[in-house]
Amino acid sequence: MPKTNLRNHRRQNLLMLLVVLQLCAVTAVGQNFLSIKLNVNATAAARNMLRSTLIIPVKPGPLTLFYPKWIPGEHSPTGTINDLVGLEIHANGKSIPWKRDDVEMFAFHCEVPAGVSALEVTFDDVSQPGTTMTARLARLKWNRVVLYPRGMSSDAVRVVASLKLPPGWKYATSLPVSRETRDEVRFKEVSLTELVDSPAILGANFRKVALSSGAVLHEMDIVADTPAALEVKAQTVTGWENLVKEANTLFGARHYRSYRFLLTLSDYGGSEGLEHHESSEDGVGERALSDPGQLIDLGDLLGHEYAHSWNGKYRRPADLTIPDFEQPMHGDLLWVYEGLTEYLGKVLPSRSGLWTSENFHESVAAVAAEMDNQSGRKWRPLVDTATAVQITYSSPRAWMNYRRRVDYYFEGLLLWLEADVLIRRQSQGKLSLDDFCHRFHGGQDTPPMVKTYTFDDVATVLNEVMPYDWRGFLNERVNLIAVRAPLGGITNGGWKLVYNETPNEEVKFSDQQRKSLNFAYSLGFIVKDDGTLLDVNLETPAGKAGLAPGMKLISINGRSWSSDVLHDAVAAAKTNTTPLEFLVENGSFQQTHQVDYHGGERYPHLERDATKPDLLGEIIKPHAH
Ligand SMILES: [Zn+2]
Repeated sequence: MPKTNLRNHRRQNLLMLLVVLQLCAVTAVGQNFLSIKLNVNATAAARNMLRSTLIIPVKPGPLTLFYPKWIPGEHSPTGTINDLVGLEIHANGKSIPWKRDDVEMFAFHCEVPAGVSALEVTFDDVSQPGTTMTARLARLKWNRVVLYPRGMSSDAVRVVASLKLPPGWKYATSLPVSRETRDEVRFKEVSLTELVDSPAILGANFRKVALSSGAVLHEMDIVADTPAALEVKAQTVTGWENLVKEANTLFGARHYRSYRFLLTLSDYGGSEGLEHHESSEDGVGERALSDPGQLIDLGDLLGHEYAHSWNGKYRRPADLTIPDFEQPMHGDLLWVYEGLTEYLGKVLPSRSGLWTSENFHESVAAVAAEMDNQSGRKWRPLVDTATAVQITYSSPRAWMNYRRRVDYYFEGLLLWLEADVLIRRQSQGKLSLDDFCHRFHGGQDTPPMVKTYTFDDVATVLNEVMPYDWRGFLNERVNLIAVRAPLGGITNGGWKLVYNETPNEEVKFSDQQRKSLNFAYSLGFIVKDDGTLLDVNLETPAGKAGLAPGMKLISINGRSWSSDVLHDAVAAAKTNTTPLEFLVENGSFQQTHQVDYHGGERYPHLERDATKPDLLGEIIKPHAH
């Protein structure tokens, strides 16, 4: 994004802040802080329902209550307003009518009668089955269970929360506890900012694993659908301990008082990955601690969300930092927030022993191939995938390679790998991106706090590490259209991106997860195992033959669709010049497409280039243990 626009963004943010400060003065019932009591009754969690009761101090007159809309870490207006049901407002035992705002769906207006000093607000949070709760566990996201006076800063709203657990369930959270009984927990008063940043996990099957022995607590808290799923190998725990050591060595200082990985294991509770200052929500499949493929995937997730405590929570783009949950966020620097985190999310598990070097190479190869083969590169610069975060996260799967989706993660990874390799080469191995992380994210140990930055701040600190035209480097890769992905980190790091018939391990795992076959680098499509095309690249043989996402393969060369038939047909086509014949169903019509392809199956890998030093090896070797 041009610098002029960045300046405009900052000015808009300043104006918004002034408006909010003024609103505070008039709406915060005459006080700088407001203390709300919140009780969450989770005894019906197994049926996807939480009961919320709030006591909100008020003054007589018009009042607007607001439901969190822009959720930190989601970078989008993803507040689950449709899941707020059964709303009732009472004062002194009498019902108070409310009216939703005509335009802002997250705001509720009411009139506080004379003589009333507090409202009792009750509602249910009913989540979609498979999102936050299962029959045996739940993730409690506090933003789903609160309303607060509109216009107040989330730092100025104080909350004393309590939680009633289902009988026999246990819980974990970074929220400080004041006292607890068998089934009820009372928490210390915190700001609404800290509350929303401190989710809880609860479950019938629960386990804690200590990850450090020093003064600062690091803990893996696990809830699972079954007791068996909690079993974890000693080698995995050692990897988690190393992850803590490696991250602390990388950044040089921490910005939390304690850290908890809140791990949920369920095939029905939905996958999750959400960062917080002092914890992360890590939701994976029930067998993630025993299935080798899922365990590798978990290493990436834990490394990514943990790195966010520094990159995203502590250091955060100024435009992405909002005073409440209502002002819009700006996503144009997400290639730092998410892109650098995506890179560290693969480097840290490799340094920790949770990943092998082969895992790292296969993962980088899969990312590089996917980004390099996006047909949407011709129209869409990387920055636009970040600026449009409000719509890119939820954009449809069909035509994804032409749309480009959340590429600021994956191309961001390639960009930061290239920066790392560049620093290492130019400094003859004396410096690396670790030095940038030290300067940018480290400093002194502090409790949770936010230190904002701009594009210029990133370029300036890179320059402090190693003088270079970093503004030009970043501008070219972020703001300009480039038909090829930035592969300099791979090629200058002593490796080559190659394609051969051996399946890529990460591509194979993705295919297993979504029940698909990835022929993106050969025929040019990804197909579900029922024959439905998920995506087609227009510039490939399949795209040129007229195939499109949504079409369903009926037969190939006259044989009924199956994955084996497809594999066999692609293999046979290598030895002849006859196009492959695909009969497809397009809505209620059937049609035939001739796909002229004879190159066999192709999957991406990294291959060592012995003419250059192995800098990727340097990047992923253990640094702290
Ligand atoms: Zn992230």
